[in-house]
Amino acid sequence: MTSFTNQQLQSLIAQLDQSIYSHDQWYKNLLRILITHLPPETADLLPDAHRHCRFGQWYENYQSSFIKENPLFISLGDAHEKMHLGATKLLRRVSDGLPISPNEWDHFDNLLDRVRLEFQALRQEFATAAQNRDPLTEAQTRGTMLSELREQDALAKRGRQECALIMFDLDHFKRVNDAYGHAAGDLVLVSVVKCVKALLRPYDKIYRYGGEEFLICMPSANLEEATQVAERMRSAIARQSMRYNQAAEPLQVTASFGVAALSSHRTIEESLACVDRAMYSAKAAGRNCVIVNG
Ligand code: GH3
Ligand code: MG
Ligand code: MG
Repeated sequence: MTSFTNQQLQSLIAQLDQSIYSHDQWYKNLLRILITHLPPETADLLPDAHRHCRFGQWYENYQSSFIKENPLFISLGDAHEKMHLGATKLLRRVSDGLPISPNEWDHFDNLLDRVRLEFQALRQEFATAAQNRDPLTEAQTRGTMLSELREQDALAKRGRQECALIMFDLDHFKRVNDAYGHAAGDLVLVSVVKCVKALLRPYDKIYRYGGEEFLICMPSANLEEATQVAERMRSAIARQSMRYNQAAEPLQVTASFGVAALSSHRTIEESLACVDRAMYSAKAAGRNCVIVNG
C-alpha cells in the first residue's frame, strides 16, 4: 500500500467498487440462468471461468507487483476462482437437466459470501490507507501506527515473525528552511519520502513520526537486513539532488538513521525508545550515518 500515491489508492478503490458492481451483475445473471434454465454463458462453463468475467480480467491484468503480493489481494483472487468453479458446477448440473441439492447450493452460497467479504476487506485496507495519509509526504500518519505496531509486536512476541524498525531524521533541516524557504523545505520532505519509498518492500510501512522524522516498520526483517536497507536509504538520500526552481541551486540533504527491532523482551514503547536512541547516536556520531541498537 505504501508505494501507492493517494491518487492511485483512490483509483484502486474506484476500480474495486466497479468490480463489486460487475460481480453483483454477474451473480444476478447467474441466478436468472439457474432459475429459468436459459443456456449458460459459454465463458461461465470454461475451466478458467474466473479469468473471463470483468473482475477476473481486471485481476489478471493488474501489473503492480506491490498489489500482487498483497495477502488480501491474493486471498480475494483465490476466493473468486473457487466461487467460479462452484458456479460452473451448478450450471453444468442445470444444463444436464439435473437438480441442485440444498448442500450444493449452500456450498456455493458460502463461496459467494467469502468473495464478498474479501472484496470488502481489500476495499477497507485501501480506504484506511488513504484516510491515514499525511497530505504533504503521503507517508502514513501516526493515527494507525501504534495499532499496526501492536499487531507486529504480538507476532514477534509469539516468535512468529521478526519485525525491524528504522527511524530517520533529516540533518540540519532547519537550515534548509532558513536558507531556501519553507516551500523548498516541503519539497525536500516530499522527495525524501519518495526516494525512501522506492526502497521499501511490499509489506513495509513508513510513518511520519514528527516534522522531519520518519519511522519505517519492516515485518519479517531482521536487524541485519534492516541495517542494509537503512544504509541504501541513507546513501540514496545523500545522492539526491533536488531543484526547487529552475533558477535556484540544486539542493542536497542527508539524514541520520537508527535501527532496532521489536522484541519479546520489551514493550513497543521501549522498542520505539531504542530506535530513537539509535537515531540520536547517529546524530551524535556526525550525522548522515546508520546506527543499530539491538
Ligand atoms: P538535526 O540535524 O539535529 O535534526 O537538526 P534540524 O535542524 O533538522 O533539527 P530541528 O529539530 O532544529 O529542526 C527541524 C526543522 O524541521 C524545524 C521545522 O521547521 C522543520 N520542519 C518540520 N516539519 C516541516 C514541514 O512540514 N515542512 C518544512 N518545510 N519544515 C518542517
Ligand atoms: Mg532534523
Ligand atoms: Mg527532528
